[in-house]
Amino acid sequence: MSDKFEDLINSSVGKKLMGALGVTVPTELLRYDSEQNNFFSGALLFGAGNNAKLVDVTLSNLADSDARLALTTECAAQASSTVETVIADSYQALVFDGSGFTDGLQLIQAYRFFNANIRKLRPSGRIVILGRPHMACATPEAAAAQRALEGLSRSLAKEVGSKGATAQLITIAEGAEANLDSSLRFVLSPKSAYISGQVIRVRSAAVSDNADWHKPLAGKIALVTGASRGIGAAIAETLARDGATVVGVDVVQMENDLAQIMSRLKGQPVIADITSSDAPAKIAAALKALGGADIVVHNAGVTRDKTIANMSEQFWQMTLDINLAAAQRITSELLSSGALNDGGSIIGVSSMNGIGGQRGQTNYAASKAGVIGYVDFMAQSEELAARNITVNAVAPGFIETAMTAAIPLFTRMFGRRLNSLSQGGLPVDVAETIAFFGNPASRGVSGNTVRVCGQSWFGA
Ligand code: NAD
Repeated sequence: MSDKFEDLINSSVGKKLMGALGVTVPTELLRYDSEQNNFFSGALLFGAGNNAKLVDVTLSNLADSDARLALTTECAAQASSTVETVIADSYQALVFDGSGFTDGLQLIQAYRFFNANIRKLRPSGRIVILGRPHMACATPEAAAAQRALEGLSRSLAKEVGSKGATAQLITIAEGAEANLDSSLRFVLSPKSAYISGQVIRVRSAAVSDNADWHKPLAGKIALVTGASRGIGAAIAETLARDGATVVGVDVVQMENDLAQIMSRLKGQPVIADITSSDAPAKIAAALKALGGADIVVHNAGVTRDKTIANMSEQFWQMTLDINLAAAQRITSELLSSGALNDGGSIIGVSSMNGIGGQRGQTNYAASKAGVIGYVDFMAQSEELAARNITVNAVAPGFIETAMTAAIPLFTRMFGRRLNSLSQGGLPVDVAETIAFFGNPASRGVSGNTVRVCGQSWFGA
């Protein structure tokens, strides 16, 4: 959703004027087009440090892409088979395997790779660093080296953001190599356009071979609360695009909007205030009638902003109830009633303000930080792990919706630029991340809170 002033800034005359005034004009981000269905195409340079453990699995994951591969000499030496490679002048992606680093000084190899090649990264390009979870390392020096990759990738993200390019670190637990595929595809593809400076952690889980990357959710049932507009509508659209049947929930005031969107997506509307005492059972019954939910997205949320001294108890409690407690009650009911299928995923919608805090939003930030706590705890549940159920969250930053369009013009102009990509995200950017969590091939991705914020300057 754009506005007239932004349109002016983005016109050729506006760009010159803004350049002269020192206002950043953002690079238009490349987004996924389901007609083309190419998770990655273009030239990709793959480098590796010594003793890298992820070269072969990465090459096998890239085998069915349209990537034109180039391998550094060090990387090629560690591949078990010879790969035909083409050196290019510029690259759509730079991928570096740092999983073998056991000492901080070894990162000189990563420095050399990026120092020599970062200028060759194309606009909307991708940097992906592969590493190991530092707390599982054998020595403190190795833990430091692996954690150092996080600082490297976050800083690279800040250096390439003005080109609309992104950088992420994926850590892969030992033994979880077969689960890398969906995360690698996601961060290389335009589906992750508005995600940068993130760490995606992949753990061991039963591998689900995804035969169809075009319709990864075919045959799946997805619950989306607050589905009638904004981010929730985009989530419903994206999950349906990927093949899921969507059960959309919203309040009675949104009945017409919900009916329209569900009819277009061939989904099923359920009218319920998620805080009402009968909502969990009503939602569970609708899902069970369809064979049970495979994806549960707790998107419904509200803001009721006031500084704490001016906030009524009612504002406080309703925000905590809608954004946090209702989602927990629904999850408990789905689990205890058998309305959530094995191999399913539970996804919370947090917020950057839940990470960084926000003046006038003590209630909202507390509720959204609570979402992260719930996800962290639930992802450790042995019972859920045994059923191969994952639990993750997205934390959106400035997303262009009716909510952010209501912010006064100049605050909005600054607000959307306070990140490495110098622009606001779109509801679809949040939705693509949720579709990635919901993909059966992402069973190794659990306990992650991924920020969809263009690498916001605020927050931890
Ligand atoms: P929105 O207000 O446009 O949509 C929220 C939806 O939830 C509405 O359809 C609303 O009717 C529904 N809803 C509210 N209370 C409900 C209840 N008690 N029962 C059932 N449905 C209910 O908001 P949005 O901008 O699309 O945000 C969606 C989610 O993303 C929220 O959880 C929000 O906190 C989060 N978020 C948004 C942004 C942003 O920039 N827009 C940033 C961070 C997080």
